[in-house]
Amino acid sequence: MKKLFLIIGAPGSGKTTDAQLIAQRNGEVTHYSTGDMFRAEIGSGSERGKIIDSYVSKGNLVPIEIVIETIVEAIKKAPTDVIVIDGYPRSTEQMIELDKYLENETNVELSSVIEVRVTQEVAKGRILGRAAESEVIRDDDNVEVFYNRMKVYTDPLPEIQNFYIKKGLLKVINGERTIEEIVDEMDAFINSKI
Ligand code: ADP
Repeated sequence: MKKLFLIIGAPGSGKTTDAQLIAQRNGEVTHYSTGDMFRAEIGSGSERGKIIDSYVSKGNLVPIEIVIETIVEAIKKAPTDVIVIDGYPRSTEQMIELDKYLENETNVELSSVIEVRVTQEVAKGRILGRAAESEVIRDDDNVEVFYNRMKVYTDPLPEIQNFYIKKGLLKVINGERTIEEIVDEMDAFINSKI
Protein backbone atom coordinates (compact mmCIF):
# COMPACT_ATOMS: atom_id res chain seq x y z
CA MET A 1 0.00 0.00 0.00
CA LYS A 2 1.39 3.40 -0.99
CA LYS A 3 1.10 6.17 1.58
CA LEU A 4 0.34 9.66 0.37
CA PHE A 5 1.11 12.84 2.33
CA LEU A 6 -0.10 16.20 1.04
CA ILE A 7 1.47 19.47 2.10
CA ILE A 8 -0.47 22.69 1.80
CA GLY A 9 0.63 26.18 2.73
CA ALA A 10 0.49 29.77 1.60
CA PRO A 11 2.91 31.05 -1.02
CA GLY A 12 6.07 31.65 0.99
CA SER A 13 5.20 29.10 3.66
CA GLY A 14 8.23 27.05 2.66
CA LYS A 15 6.24 23.91 1.85
CA THR A 16 8.36 22.91 -1.17
CA THR A 17 11.67 23.48 0.64
CA ASP A 18 10.46 21.46 3.63
CA ALA A 19 9.27 18.58 1.46
CA GLN A 20 12.51 18.54 -0.56
CA LEU A 21 14.54 18.24 2.64
CA ILE A 22 12.30 15.44 3.94
CA ALA A 23 12.92 13.47 0.72
CA GLN A 24 16.69 14.11 0.98
CA ARG A 25 16.76 12.75 4.52
CA ASN A 26 14.61 9.76 3.82
CA GLY A 27 15.21 7.47 0.83
CA GLU A 28 11.78 5.94 1.32
CA VAL A 29 10.12 9.23 0.38
CA THR A 30 9.47 10.56 -3.13
CA HIS A 31 8.55 14.23 -3.33
CA TYR A 32 6.68 16.12 -6.03
CA SER A 33 5.72 19.80 -6.02
CA THR A 34 2.76 20.81 -8.18
CA GLY A 35 4.32 24.24 -8.78
CA ASP A 36 7.65 22.71 -9.84
CA MET A 37 5.92 20.20 -12.13
CA PHE A 38 4.01 23.03 -13.79
CA ARG A 39 7.14 25.19 -14.15
CA ALA A 40 8.94 22.21 -15.73
CA GLU A 41 6.12 21.83 -18.25
CA ILE A 42 6.24 25.58 -18.98
CA GLY A 43 10.02 25.32 -19.41
CA SER A 44 9.62 22.51 -21.95
CA GLY A 45 7.92 24.98 -24.28
CA SER A 46 5.04 22.57 -25.03
CA GLU A 47 1.54 23.71 -25.98
CA ARG A 48 0.34 22.39 -22.62
CA GLY A 49 3.08 24.45 -20.96
CA LYS A 50 1.80 27.59 -22.70
CA ILE A 51 -1.70 26.99 -21.37
CA ILE A 52 -0.31 26.37 -17.87
CA ASP A 53 1.80 29.54 -18.05
CA SER A 54 -1.24 31.69 -18.75
CA TYR A 55 -2.56 30.74 -15.28
CA VAL A 56 0.66 30.47 -13.25
CA SER A 57 2.00 33.87 -14.35
CA LYS A 58 -1.14 35.53 -12.94
CA GLY A 59 -1.22 33.44 -9.78
CA ASN A 60 -4.43 31.67 -10.79
CA LEU A 61 -5.22 27.99 -10.49
CA VAL A 62 -4.29 25.78 -13.41
CA PRO A 63 -7.44 24.07 -14.83
CA ILE A 64 -8.62 21.06 -12.88
CA GLU A 65 -8.17 18.47 -15.68
CA ILE A 66 -4.49 19.36 -16.03
CA VAL A 67 -3.95 19.36 -12.26
CA ILE A 68 -5.60 15.96 -11.72
CA GLU A 69 -3.68 14.40 -14.60
CA THR A 70 -0.44 15.80 -13.20
CA ILE A 71 -0.88 14.47 -9.68
CA VAL A 72 -2.28 11.07 -10.70
CA GLU A 73 0.70 10.62 -13.03
CA ALA A 74 3.05 11.57 -10.18
CA ILE A 75 1.40 9.12 -7.76
CA LYS A 76 1.63 6.34 -10.36
CA LYS A 77 5.25 6.92 -11.30
CA ALA A 78 6.58 7.36 -7.75
CA PRO A 79 9.28 4.71 -7.22
CA THR A 80 8.76 4.51 -3.43
CA ASP A 81 5.82 3.63 -1.21
CA VAL A 82 5.80 6.99 0.56
CA ILE A 83 4.82 9.94 -1.61
CA VAL A 84 4.80 13.58 -0.52
CA ILE A 85 3.07 16.08 -2.80
CA ASP A 86 3.12 19.75 -1.96
CA GLY A 87 0.73 22.31 -3.42
CA TYR A 88 -2.36 20.11 -3.51
CA PRO A 89 -5.30 20.47 -2.98
CA ARG A 90 -5.79 24.15 -3.67
CA SER A 91 -9.57 24.12 -4.15
CA THR A 92 -12.53 22.17 -2.81
CA GLU A 93 -13.01 20.77 -6.30
CA GLN A 94 -9.45 19.38 -6.28
CA MET A 95 -10.00 17.94 -2.81
CA ILE A 96 -13.18 16.15 -3.89
CA GLU A 97 -11.65 14.84 -7.12
CA LEU A 98 -8.73 13.34 -5.19
CA ASP A 99 -11.13 11.82 -2.69
CA LYS A 100 -13.03 10.12 -5.53
CA TYR A 101 -9.80 8.91 -7.10
CA LEU A 102 -8.59 7.43 -3.81
CA GLU A 103 -11.91 5.67 -3.22
CA ASN A 104 -11.31 3.67 -6.38
CA GLU A 105 -7.57 3.26 -5.94
CA THR A 106 -7.06 0.47 -3.44
CA ASN A 107 -3.27 0.67 -3.64
CA VAL A 108 -2.92 4.25 -2.31
CA GLU A 109 -4.02 5.64 1.03
CA LEU A 110 -4.04 9.27 2.15
CA SER A 111 -2.02 9.28 5.39
CA SER A 112 -2.21 12.96 6.25
CA VAL A 113 -2.59 16.51 5.01
CA ILE A 114 0.06 18.75 6.55
CA GLU A 115 -0.65 22.47 6.66
CA VAL A 116 2.44 24.64 7.04
CA ARG A 117 1.01 27.72 8.69
CA VAL A 118 2.48 31.22 8.43
CA THR A 119 0.91 34.67 8.69
CA GLN A 120 0.38 36.71 5.54
CA GLU A 121 3.04 39.19 6.70
CA VAL A 122 5.72 36.52 6.99
CA ALA A 123 4.67 34.95 3.69
CA LYS A 124 4.89 38.29 1.89
CA GLY A 125 8.28 39.12 3.40
CA ARG A 126 9.71 35.79 2.25
CA ILE A 127 8.32 35.96 -1.28
CA LEU A 128 9.47 39.50 -1.91
CA GLY A 129 12.82 38.70 -0.29
CA ARG A 130 13.17 35.69 -2.59
CA ALA A 131 12.33 37.86 -5.60
CA ALA A 132 14.98 40.38 -4.61
CA GLU A 133 17.77 37.83 -4.02
CA SER A 134 17.06 35.11 -6.50
CA GLU A 135 18.89 34.72 -9.80
CA VAL A 136 16.05 32.59 -11.13
CA ILE A 137 13.27 35.12 -10.97
CA ARG A 138 9.79 33.69 -10.95
CA ASP A 139 7.53 36.09 -12.75
CA ASP A 140 4.77 35.37 -10.21
CA ASP A 141 6.96 36.63 -7.33
CA ASN A 142 5.85 40.26 -7.30
CA VAL A 143 3.51 42.19 -5.03
CA GLU A 144 0.40 42.19 -7.25
CA VAL A 145 0.56 38.51 -8.13
CA PHE A 146 1.48 37.67 -4.53
CA TYR A 147 -1.79 39.15 -3.22
CA ASN A 148 -3.77 37.18 -5.77
CA ARG A 149 -1.91 33.94 -4.93
CA MET A 150 -2.60 34.58 -1.25
CA LYS A 151 -6.31 35.13 -1.90
CA VAL A 152 -6.53 32.07 -4.14
CA TYR A 153 -4.91 30.07 -1.32
CA THR A 154 -6.94 31.53 1.55
CA ASP A 155 -10.48 31.51 0.09
CA PRO A 156 -11.05 27.73 -0.01
CA LEU A 157 -8.82 27.01 3.03
CA PRO A 158 -11.50 26.73 5.78
CA GLU A 159 -13.46 24.21 3.75
CA ILE A 160 -10.32 22.20 3.01
CA GLN A 161 -9.30 22.27 6.68
CA ASN A 162 -12.76 21.15 7.84
CA PHE A 163 -12.92 18.31 5.34
CA TYR A 164 -9.64 16.83 6.54
CA ILE A 165 -10.26 17.61 10.23
CA LYS A 166 -13.44 15.50 9.99
CA LYS A 167 -11.41 12.65 8.54
CA GLY A 168 -8.82 13.07 11.31
CA LEU A 169 -6.14 13.76 8.70
CA LEU A 170 -5.16 17.41 9.21
CA LYS A 171 -1.82 18.16 10.86
CA VAL A 172 -0.88 21.81 11.35
CA ILE A 173 2.79 22.72 11.59
CA ASN A 174 4.03 26.15 12.62
CA GLY A 175 6.00 27.45 9.62
CA GLU A 176 7.45 30.45 11.41
CA ARG A 177 10.50 28.71 12.83
CA THR A 178 13.86 27.72 11.39
CA ILE A 179 13.74 25.32 8.44
CA GLU A 180 15.53 22.75 10.58
CA GLU A 181 12.92 22.89 13.34
CA ILE A 182 10.07 22.63 10.84
CA VAL A 183 11.64 19.76 8.92
CA ASP A 184 12.47 17.90 12.16
CA GLU A 185 8.85 18.06 13.24
CA MET A 186 7.51 17.12 9.81
CA ASP A 187 9.97 14.26 9.43
CA ALA A 188 9.11 12.85 12.87
CA PHE A 189 5.41 13.14 12.08
CA ILE A 190 5.74 11.37 8.70
CA ASN A 191 7.90 8.66 10.25
CA SER A 192 5.28 8.08 12.94
CA LYS A 193 2.74 7.36 10.19
CA ILE A 194 4.82 4.99 8.04
P1 ADP B 1 3.28 29.22 -4.24
O1 ADP B 1 2.46 28.29 -3.41
O2 ADP B 1 4.48 29.77 -3.50
O3 ADP B 1 2.48 30.28 -4.93
P2 ADP B 1 3.80 27.04 -6.08
O4 ADP B 1 5.09 26.74 -6.74
O5 ADP B 1 3.28 26.03 -5.10
O6 ADP B 1 4.01 28.43 -5.38
O7 ADP B 1 2.66 27.32 -7.16
C1 ADP B 1 2.87 28.27 -8.18
C2 ADP B 1 1.64 28.35 -9.09
O8 ADP B 1 1.41 27.06 -9.72
C3 ADP B 1 0.32 28.68 -8.42
O9 ADP B 1 0.17 30.07 -8.22
C4 ADP B 1 -0.68 28.13 -9.44
O10 ADP B 1 -0.78 28.97 -10.56
C5 ADP B 1 0.00 26.84 -9.91
N1 ADP B 1 -0.41 25.69 -9.09
C6 ADP B 1 0.35 25.02 -8.18
N2 ADP B 1 -0.36 24.03 -7.60
C7 ADP B 1 -1.60 24.06 -8.15
C8 ADP B 1 -2.78 23.31 -7.98
N3 ADP B 1 -2.89 22.29 -7.10
N4 ADP B 1 -3.86 23.63 -8.75
C9 ADP B 1 -3.81 24.62 -9.63
N5 ADP B 1 -2.74 25.39 -9.84
C10 ADP B 1 -1.62 25.13 -9.11
